[in-house]
Amino acid sequence: MLSAMRLLIISDLHSNIEALDGVLADAQRRGGFERILCAGDIVGYGADPAAVIAALRERDATCVAGNHDLAAIGRMDTAEFNRVAAQAARWTEMALDADERAWLASLPLVATIGDLTIVHGSLRSPEWEYLLDPEQADAQFALQETPYSVVGHSHLQFWSVQREDDEAAMHRATDGTTVRLEGRRLILNPGSTGQPRDGDARAGYILYDDASGAAGTGGAVTWHRVAYDAETARRKILDAGLPAFLGDRLLEGR
Ligand code: ZN
Repeated sequence: MLSAMRLLIISDLHSNIEALDGVLADAQRRGGFERILCAGDIVGYGADPAAVIAALRERDATCVAGNHDLAAIGRMDTAEFNRVAAQAARWTEMALDADERAWLASLPLVATIGDLTIVHGSLRSPEWEYLLDPEQADAQFALQETPYSVVGHSHLQFWSVQREDDEAAMHRATDGTTVRLEGRRLILNPGSTGQPRDGDARAGYILYDDASGAAGTGGAVTWHRVAYDAETARRKILDAGLPAFLGDRLLEGR
């Protein structure tokens, strides 16, 4: 276990550099962080895949691959994607150079850092499963070798806690939700930074601080939302010739 660590946890950036910049600035205002963990879907849908990759590489972020990252490098058959997602995946592949594609190809499906395991969908199906209910959370806990895991993919902010005598409890999180770690076994979803879908258009993220509590209580995680320049992100999507729906949805968080 690493000693005291402050982490910025993000997921589902979807080539939205305005949202990532907004989150980085907001997290700095809230005291900063030592390392970034990213649960995948770095690219796909949005107009700035290269800029988002560069921002993560520059900060030496610990990232795993999501289904859209694999699709953009031809490692996932987009027959499983809807038409808009498949079109965006082809556009993204063309927008990246060989070095950027190689970086995406180097990402693992699962990564562990300190007390956290990070995966896009779930440990039993990293590229595909939307972890949403208690049965799925219990299946995750059965495979989880660290106290905490991070998932993305659903674009929803939530947390789950393992229980001894009952199935896992699921809780939605919103801006400002704080959960004490308290040595419990938890699953954390930071929601989506680059394409929120819960009706709140603001970019989502988590700040994890394993030393924020009093001695012995073992820190806390807090969910945040921050307004960003979604209008610029939308305009770039239109200018790139990507489906207009992909830009419009950013303004509504759907
Ligand atoms: Zn996604």
